[in-house]
Amino acid sequence: MYRVLKREQIVPNIHLLVIETNNIHKNAKAGEFVVVRVDEEGERIPLNLVDWDEKSVSVIFMEVGTSTRKLGALKEGDVIETLAGPLGRPTEMIEDKSIICIGGCYGIGALYPVIRAFKQNRNRVITAVEGRSSFLLYWQKKLQEYSDELYEITRDGTKGYEGHINVFLEEYMKDHKVDLIYCQGCTYLTFFVSQITKSMGVKTIVGLNPIMIDATGMCGVCRVIINGETKFACVDGPEFDGHAVDWPNLLARRHTYHSQEQKSLSFYECERYG
Ligand SMILES: Cc1cc2nc3c(=O)[nH]c(=O)nc-3n(C[C@H](O)[C@H](O)[C@H](O)COP(=O)(O)OP(=O)(O)OC[C@H]3O[C@@H](n4cnc5c(N)ncnc54)[C@H](O)[C@@H]3O)c2cc1C
Repeated sequence: MYRVLKREQIVPNIHLLVIETNNIHKNAKAGEFVVVRVDEEGERIPLNLVDWDEKSVSVIFMEVGTSTRKLGALKEGDVIETLAGPLGRPTEMIEDKSIICIGGCYGIGALYPVIRAFKQNRNRVITAVEGRSSFLLYWQKKLQEYSDELYEITRDGTKGYEGHINVFLEEYMKDHKVDLIYCQGCTYLTFFVSQITKSMGVKTIVGLNPIMIDATGMCGVCRVIINGETKFACVDGPEFDGHAVDWPNLLARRHTYHSQEQKSLSFYECERYG
C-alpha cells in the first residue's frame, strides 16, 4: 500500500498525484514511468514520472476512464494498492545540442524531468507547451527553470502563438538550427509533430502511450511497429523515433478495448453517483 501525500487538480481534468515511496528515486531517470494500481480490483496503468525525491514520486494524469477517474477522486492520506517502477528505458541523452521539447496535456508535466536532464547535459532547451486554450497550460514557471526559451501555443489564441504546434514549428525553424525535437503528450500530438518534422528533416523522439498491461515485456499488448519491426513500448521504449513509428497501426490498436472501457466507466459512475 502506498500513501497519497497530495492530489491536486492543476487544470481541468488533469491532476498532480504525489505518492509516498522511499525507493523509486534511487534509480529514477528522465523518460521513465511507473505502473499504478489504484485498488485491488483496479487495472495496472502506466504514468510518466514527472518528479521524485527520497520520500515520494509525482505523476500527472488526465482523467479518461475508470482508473484515472478513481485516481482523480483520491485525497491526501488515502492509499493506492500498487506502485511499481521505475520502468521503461530512460530518455537517450545527448550533449551540447539544440533541442525543441514539446508537451501537450499530461505531456507538459512529463517534459519536466526530461528538460532538466537535457539542460544538465549542456543542451540548449527550447520548450513549447501547447493546449486548446491558456487555462489548460500549466507548470510554465517550473519548465522555465531548465529552459533557455519557453513558448506557449494555444489553439484559440488566448496566449502565445495562435494555432496548432505547426504554426510555432514552421516559424521557429525558419531562422534557427535545431538538432532534435522531443515530444510528449497524446497520440494525436506525437503523430502530428512527427508528420511535420519529417518534412523538415529533423530527428524527432516521441513518448508513445499504447495500451499497456504488465509493463515488463511479457504480455505484448503494448507492441508497436518501428521501422517495420515489432517492439514493446514497455521495455524497448516508451520513447521512439517518431519518423519510424507505424502510426496507423498504433492508432488502430488503441481502440481494442473501447467497449469494455466504456462499460467499466458506466459501471463505476453508477456505483459512485447512483
Ligand atoms: C508509457 C506510458 C506512459 C503514460 N504516461 C501517462 C501520463 O503520464 N499521464 C497520463 O495521463 N497518461 C499516461 N499514459 C496513458 C495512461 O496510461 C492511460 O490514459 C490510462 O491507462 C487510462 O486508464 P483508464 O482506466 O483511466 O482509461 P481506460 O478505460 O483504460 O481508457 C479510456 C480511454 O482512454 C484511452 N486510453 C486507454 N489507454 C490509453 C493509453 N495508454 N494512452 C492514452 N489513452 C489511452 C482509451 O482509448 C479510451 O478511449 C501513459 C501510457 C503509457 C503507455
